[in-house]
Amino acid sequence: MSDDDKGGPKGPKGPEYPDPAEIRKTLEGMFGKMGQGGFSFPGMSDSAFMEEEEPKEQDEVKAASDEVFNFDLLPRDIKAHLDRFVIRQDEAKKALAIAVCDHYNHVKVAKAHQAENEGTSEDRLELQKQNVMVVGPTGVGKTYLVKHIAELIGVPFVKADATKFSETGYVGGDVDDLVRELVTKADGDVSLAEYGIIYIDEIDKLASGGSGGMMGRDVSGRGVQTTLLKLMEETEVPVRNAQDMRGQMMAMMDLQNGKQGKDTINTRHILFIVSGAFSGLEKIVRKRSQAAQIGFSADQAEPAMDGELFKQVTTQDYIDFGFEAEFIGRIPVRVVCEHLEAADLEAILKYSEGSLLRQYEREFEAYGIDIKFKDSGISQIAEMAAGEKTGARGLMTVGEKILRDFKYELPGTSVSELTVDADLIENREKHLESYRELGQELVVEKARQEVEAFIREFKDKHGVQISLADEAMSRLVQMASEQARSVFQVARQHFRDYQFGLKLIQKNTGQSKFLLSEAAVNDPDKFLSELVVKSYQDAKEEES
Ligand code: ADP
Repeated sequence: MSDDDKGGPKGPKGPEYPDPAEIRKTLEGMFGKMGQGGFSFPGMSDSAFMEEEEPKEQDEVKAASDEVFNFDLLPRDIKAHLDRFVIRQDEAKKALAIAVCDHYNHVKVAKAHQAENEGTSEDRLELQKQNVMVVGPTGVGKTYLVKHIAELIGVPFVKADATKFSETGYVGGDVDDLVRELVTKADGDVSLAEYGIIYIDEIDKLASGGSGGMMGRDVSGRGVQTTLLKLMEETEVPVRNAQDMRGQMMAMMDLQNGKQGKDTINTRHILFIVSGAFSGLEKIVRKRSQAAQIGFSADQAEPAMDGELFKQVTTQDYIDFGFEAEFIGRIPVRVVCEHLEAADLEAILKYSEGSLLRQYEREFEAYGIDIKFKDSGISQIAEMAAGEKTGARGLMTVGEKILRDFKYELPGTSVSELTVDADLIENREKHLESYRELGQELVVEKARQEVEAFIREFKDKHGVQISLADEAMSRLVQMASEQARSVFQVARQHFRDYQFGLKLIQKNTGQSKFLLSEAAVNDPDKFLSELVVKSYQDAKEEES
């Protein structure tokens, strides 16, 4: 067998397979000479190099992205799916459902058109992309909506935070990395990644000058808008980052082995959804619409953006807020996600398929505890969460606070049920104490049953009746918990030879019942031998 047959890569036999260590040495030397000392090869151990996942076969890639083109969902299908998870936000659900259907239907048409006109100059159909802007406070379901849409359609989804952008890149990488991340999310399937969704939160922080901008001193939001604009329009992003030497070499190896797949990602059909709280936008709108009204004061308390006010927002308002006209022009679909009241948070807990309550149920179930939430408890949690002013995120903060001690103390006790109602939430310490007592009682009750079972077994096997003093039982319970064994097992092991001694005593004195004290548990042999000695003495005294 030749070396090639043994360890060589699959596929057509290419040129001699180079040794990774050698390539590394050569390249390190080369970049060193070129004065590009900045390059290093972290993680490029020989094995890491070799263990890289095999790129997908072209057929598999085709199958995954074909699914996108079998897209046949209606806006109402998407809304119905979202209704299962997301409470309220009906307008946002509708607008997103329509935008997403339009987008993927366009993609389908564009692809068919391209196939029909392959090779001609007419092969491209001009389409206006339905990028979406979601305006709304934190924690009201913006990300949650997008995530569920991506899941339903089966396209990769990447979320980024606009505050992490700099003019030249993205913290820890560059803006193109967002697009490359889609490929990772699509398990290396570049074709599928080209139809993915990129979701950018806190987009309002890119506003320059106006009321929204909060970029760092050195970063111009305008510059970032321009960079993003390129991605939103159409650009080819290399699948491998030019700075990523390991990636570059993987590409080289693929080339050598005839496994060349797509090496750029076209962003033409990537759907962009951006979001932000846009605090201050409502002021701009009100000012404009009420400017003519006498008595309008810029200082008056501003209620947050709601559906009604949002209907009045114009493109110019976004520009006044600090956005570039070209940038905002590339985001034609705009929708608001409204603030959630306590009643909405209650509905989330009760009706959303992703409810936190299901999560708590699973977490407690792992410890054999059945947690039940009463209506009074649910509304109390919702009420407290609304006070946090972080939307549905408040539910998690509050739930964690309420349940932390119970989650710490109850596992490992015999408590198997926990009922959360308003009273438990208001008087947590009192309830915790009674659960502690209940845990203790249950432990004692269980121990008593096990000791009884042991006594029965002893009687059945050896015909001798024993009983245990209360202190003996407590000591056994303590030992059992220290040794992480059952009381039954500990008792059996402690008194495993007792039948011989007890039968002897029975013979000597005629005693038929034996009470085992704490001393018997602490030192079974000593206790029994003393009893046996005493029985001989008693028998002797009886005789004389
Ligand atoms: P944001 O609006 O800041 O993007 P998210 O969508 O990330 O907030 O919401 C955080 C979490 O809160 C979600 O993962 C989800 O569990 C819950 N949540 C938020 N809004 C809703 C809603 N309207 N219906 C159901 N759950 C929600």
